[in-house]
Amino acid sequence: MRSVRIWGLLIAAGVVLSAAAGIACARQAQGRKLGYDDTPFLPGGKWRVHDGTRPQPRVVDPGTPSTLEAPGRPPSDAIVLFDGKDLSHWVTDGGAPPRWKVADGYMEIPKNGGSLISKEQFGDIQLHLEFATPNPPSGIDQGRGNSGVIIMGRYEVQVLDSYENQTYPDGQCASIYGQYPPLVNASRKPGEWQTYDIVFIAPRFDGDKLVSPAYMTVFHNGVLVHHHAEVLGAMTHRALAKYTPHGPKGPLLLQDHGSPVRYRNIWVRELKGCDEP
Ligand code: MG
Repeated sequence: MRSVRIWGLLIAAGVVLSAAAGIACARQAQGRKLGYDDTPFLPGGKWRVHDGTRPQPRVVDPGTPSTLEAPGRPPSDAIVLFDGKDLSHWVTDGGAPPRWKVADGYMEIPKNGGSLISKEQFGDIQLHLEFATPNPPSGIDQGRGNSGVIIMGRYEVQVLDSYENQTYPDGQCASIYGQYPPLVNASRKPGEWQTYDIVFIAPRFDGDKLVSPAYMTVFHNGVLVHHHAEVLGAMTHRALAKYTPHGPKGPLLLQDHGSPVRYRNIWVRELKGCDEP
């Protein structure tokens, strides 16, 4: 019993000492040399293993996650495309000012509202958005709660009410439309807020030649539904998708497919490589 107590005291003292050492290290690091300069070079020949002169990653406030009741707060380096208040970042398909209804922190597709296109254009991105399909639901199959998140105006992650509503799997909610069904159906009920978190890597072209296809990783309501899926080409219906060369950036498009789907909390982070400010 006594030895147990002594060991406990020793361990507690050790924890305190190492915590103190950690604080001291953190303080010293502000002015002292970091890392090593006698280690092997990593592939690429620019940085050594544990290279202290390598750029420090930018500090980002991560924001807060959304709940079913309320949208979260975006990360500090996000480009906010819709914060629940206005449509200033959007135009309608064709260039006219948008007519989508804005109310209570969301926007809703009105009858014949047309698709929304972001004014800003993007290449590689992390995209977050939230949507709710109509409640009560109406229609079946592709006719129930249909919309779509179309990246670069070409590559669609389907939005559909897939809660107890079957359709062809590569056209259900969270499918890469016409190409890949989601790994699982993580749909919530009609009217409940759902989230998409998408990592999109744009395709690369050299003139007319495809050098590298687009890739998508998609989380639906926090559940992984596509992992680095190789996109086969632009969204199409009843045809095999193919690529048509385009520039390095394109707009985000929210599709009007005749259902009053709602969106809120839409933000984008432009992706860069390591060591880029
Ligand atoms: Mg659609």
